[in-house]
Amino acid sequence: MNESRPESMSSFWMPFTNNRDFKAHPRLLVSAQGMYYKDVDGNAVLDGTAGLWCVPCGHAQPKIVAAVSEMVGQLDFAPTFQMGHPAAFDLAERLMDYTNHKFGHVFYTNSGSEAVDTALKIALAYHKARGDAGRTRLIGRERGYHGVGFGGLSVGGIGPNRKAFGPLLPGVDHLPHTHNLGKNAFSRGEPEHGAELADELERIVALHDASTIAAVIVEPVAGSTGVLIPPQGYLKRLRELCTKHGILLIFDEVITGFGRLTTPFAVDYFDVEPDMMTTAKGLTNGTVPMGAVFSKKFIHDAFMEAPAGIELFHGYTYSGHPLACAASIATLEVFKEQGILENAKSLQPYWEDAVHSLRGLPHVIDIRTIGLVAGIELESIPGKPGARAFAAFKQAFADGILIRTTGDIIALSPPLVLEKKHIDELFGKLAAVLKNLD
Ligand code: PLP
Repeated sequence: MNESRPESMSSFWMPFTNNRDFKAHPRLLVSAQGMYYKDVDGNAVLDGTAGLWCVPCGHAQPKIVAAVSEMVGQLDFAPTFQMGHPAAFDLAERLMDYTNHKFGHVFYTNSGSEAVDTALKIALAYHKARGDAGRTRLIGRERGYHGVGFGGLSVGGIGPNRKAFGPLLPGVDHLPHTHNLGKNAFSRGEPEHGAELADELERIVALHDASTIAAVIVEPVAGSTGVLIPPQGYLKRLRELCTKHGILLIFDEVITGFGRLTTPFAVDYFDVEPDMMTTAKGLTNGTVPMGAVFSKKFIHDAFMEAPAGIELFHGYTYSGHPLACAASIATLEVFKEQGILENAKSLQPYWEDAVHSLRGLPHVIDIRTIGLVAGIELESIPGKPGARAFAAFKQAFADGILIRTTGDIIALSPPLVLEKKHIDELFGKLAAVLKNLD
């Protein structure tokens, strides 16, 4: 294992990174175990973000490591176009069980971005298959993040992610975001105000006509844009309106899936069922890249009524890769055997109190929590948006905790195997960082 500094860092063009700043002041991780990373200097770094929201069962989980190691020696690769391998089918059945059969089918991808683009394409093709080809419009939401494919970018609502890439997909509209610091600051769970913002869909329907709209996609809890939690009743209202107008509802559960809210999915937490659900990250405990689109049976069945032949001209070389399937099967077993959800549930009140204990520290203008997620919003330095939180991120890393920042919001989402002592360490160190921040 190479645990030394690379000789040169110039060739790797790093994603979503200030490359010049990073390469001048690198943060290099060389190994991971349980709740901790180790950096190149041998320092332990407590993982407050499950990597990038992807490691619910903790790092180097032995069962998952063993399953992937075994599979790579047995079946390193097998196509899933016009053939298959048993693990892909086995996993699909287990995933249906894990969703409590709220969905009937699953389509494999390799990432959240691909899952989103796949779900959007399935929505368009579904309406066409039913002879409703006029339904081509896609509706996203301001401040939504749905990955970086052209579909996900188009329905996404984060300005800096979009502005360099031209007009994106035509025929896309956006609901307003639900973030309202004036009314909902320092909320625990779903904030009180804002369910009526779902009614904005009626305005969009009045403008374009329902017969032109294929699907609405939202994150049940928006993560990458800084932890925006849906107001009480908002998602139910959105569901009602989509049903009323024959519009498919897609939940992007790339971060909320696999236990983040202490339930298997946000679908369970909010008791609202979309027609499709996109997932990735925790699906394999982050061990091997994989995404998946869950679809209601009626959507899949509409394709099966076509004349014999390939029903959906879509897929990826690595859809259902054997290593990813092995990792995911093992992840589902670990969830059950290790009581991952139960641990998350039992720690949630302690987590919530610990996060809200930061209220009153310098620059903290909001704290919001749900499940094992926290958003801590800092007041921006005038003219330098994002600078204050980024300074906090750098100092936190130097002090041995990994946090994530987006704009001036700190987003926390630890592995679900954490214990009280990890919560104490995380917030003890974070409080010290915030107290000393300019
Ligand atoms: N959708 C949501 C809600 C996400 O949070 C992310 C990534 O953070 C994605 C999609 C994109 O996933 P990926 O980076 O695996 O393409």
